[in-house]
Amino acid sequence: MGQKIARVKATALAVPVKFSQFGDDRVRPNSMCLAEVETEDGVIGHGLTSITQGTVIAKMINDVAGPAIIGADAMAHERVWQILYWTLTPWGQSGQGSHAMAAIALALWDIKGKALNEPIWKLIGGARDRVEAYATCGFSFFDHDQLADAAKTMVGKGYRALKMQVGRPGLDRRNATATLAEMIIEDVKRVGVMREAAGPDIELSVDAGCRLDLPTAVELARRLEPLSIACFEEPIMQNDVRLLADMRRRTTIPLSAGQNEGQAYRFRDMLVAGAVDIVQPNAVITGGMTQCLKIAGMAAAFNTPISNGGGCPYHNMHLQAGVANGTSIEYQLNSAVACQMIYDGLPEIEDGWLRLPEAPGLGFSPNGEAIAEFAVD
Ligand SMILES: [Mg+2]
Repeated sequence: MGQKIARVKATALAVPVKFSQFGDDRVRPNSMCLAEVETEDGVIGHGLTSITQGTVIAKMINDVAGPAIIGADAMAHERVWQILYWTLTPWGQSGQGSHAMAAIALALWDIKGKALNEPIWKLIGGARDRVEAYATCGFSFFDHDQLADAAKTMVGKGYRALKMQVGRPGLDRRNATATLAEMIIEDVKRVGVMREAAGPDIELSVDAGCRLDLPTAVELARRLEPLSIACFEEPIMQNDVRLLADMRRRTTIPLSAGQNEGQAYRFRDMLVAGAVDIVQPNAVITGGMTQCLKIAGMAAAFNTPISNGGGCPYHNMHLQAGVANGTSIEYQLNSAVACQMIYDGLPEIEDGWLRLPEAPGLGFSPNGEAIAEFAVD
């Protein structure tokens, strides 16, 4: 059989995304890792991971995970996933091992799609051929004018749902310049600016990125409730399941979590505890498409939707479109633009909707020149 894995190569990337359109001159270096897997008969698949240290993941794949799967059947994604699990995370570790697994698992699904001449979203179920995109454009480093400008710009482009960052720096007190109480007051003002600029008909969500304790998160939610908030993403430190469940009983704002969780049991615990309204497995992080499908299935048994947090909308469009309880993708201005800088053939988002590609596999491929330009050791 020529479907055996013959070569695995990972490349760490630092992709410099600019925010100059909103009058911000800073450049955000986006740390990513691209995984390339080739079969004996020359089919090449690409996976990606992000929101981690790309150089660490690249070394993990090149030195440990890649050699462990050489010779395995590339189409046997469960078999390869088992090898990776027992190689990288056998004691239930989460974190960076799951990132490495995600990048490889995605590359295998890209190979499977190319071998079968079908796009991934169809292979995993083909629930819909269009997905809604929400725009994450309210960054913590924007001032009030930039927040309003970003909201108006994205609504002007047709987006019907926006997300913004709150709770920064929260419990990360290393560079804090205000108390948590002062941060709450300023956050309420900032969300008010976004709501005013977006108008009453736009869905507006907030995301604290796991940076708050329970009292702070509940108090912030209580003060944001009058602003009609669609969802509060990852309000509590470490996605503490017990505290999330407690918070969910104390606010009318729906809660979501899970973009950087590495193991499926964490989603099981959230669902059993009634801790969240939406779970957010990310195909480039949460053990890849292979494990995300299990998480989506679990969520379906709890009549709970999945959504995309953590960006990388073009990889996650396959998951969100493929399964029946999929919903939306996150057009995160930092992450989506980084993807646009390294890939060819990405689909366009029009009026806030993305039509899934018919091309096999992921339906897009890395640009060799860009990868060489942004590669780091
Ligand atoms: Mg998030």
